[in-house]
Amino acid sequence: YDDRDGKIWMDGELVDWRDAKVHILTHALHYASSVFEGERCYNGKIFKGHEHSLRLIESARLLDMESPYSADEIDAAKEAVLKANGFTDAYVRAVMWRGSGDDMGVSARRNPVRMAVAAWEWGSYYGDAKWQGAKLDIAKLKRPSPETIPTAAKAAGLYMICTMSKHAAEAKGCSDALFMDWEGYVAEATGANIFFIKDGEVHTPLADRFLNGITRQTIVQMLKDNGVPVHERRIRPEEMDGFQECFLTGTAAEVTPVGQIGDWNFQVGQMTRKISDDYEKLVRA
Ligand code: PMP
Repeated sequence: YDDRDGKIWMDGELVDWRDAKVHILTHALHYASSVFEGERCYNGKIFKGHEHSLRLIESARLLDMESPYSADEIDAAKEAVLKANGFTDAYVRAVMWRGSGDDMGVSARRNPVRMAVAAWEWGSYYGDAKWQGAKLDIAKLKRPSPETIPTAAKAAGLYMICTMSKHAAEAKGCSDALFMDWEGYVAEATGANIFFIKDGEVHTPLADRFLNGITRQTIVQMLKDNGVPVHERRIRPEEMDGFQECFLTGTAAEVTPVGQIGDWNFQVGQMTRKISDDYEKLVRA
């Protein structure tokens, strides 16, 4: 992704795509001192862009990094990138990290906090097969406890096990992996939250121990506004026996129906279709 035309915003200015580089002694590369955001721009407007800017600053704070930019300044950087590249529909990636300092070690107090924003055109996350229903593997690794790592942060370090689990899933012909948490309850996929449907009611894991996605929060509110009962609670994997439909939510994944998780099967049903349509309308409104 490094050799192409375009502009990337880096530390306050737009630079050529190919010149958006960091030094090999960047703290983040060695110690995962990095947080990021994934956002989508629809018809020229980033859906919940300001909320994403605020989450980026909060993720940084959770990693003991003070953002050099306000949420409004981050909003402006994202706008500048979209404009410079002429995008109206794109995925936006903001990243904030500890750079190289005057020494190199675990402590990063004297390493500058840096930031960049890139954008690119990115279609359906799970490809054309979306309406066949995604096939998910059950990850061997578990989502960690909030006492182990700041699970509310969208931090690079939390993605190491996502990449490992996604590779294992892909090797089995699955498109993603579903994580249980360290206590064995259903948690989230490698880049999306999960929902289940049973008899017209919606069940989703309580998001107090993994990323409470902005899409997840949007869908929960949308369902409640439409009078659909939503149960945010601990879900045991055996309960998947009784769920009829299942879908993933995320900025990149949007609303993606799930057809299979391990040996559990789900139908791609009318309710998931309606939720997907309603979400599509909302983000483009
Ligand atoms: N969980 C993980 C691990 C993710 O990477 C994402 C994508 N950011 C989500 C959930 C969904 O979050 P959002 O709806 O804010 O994109």
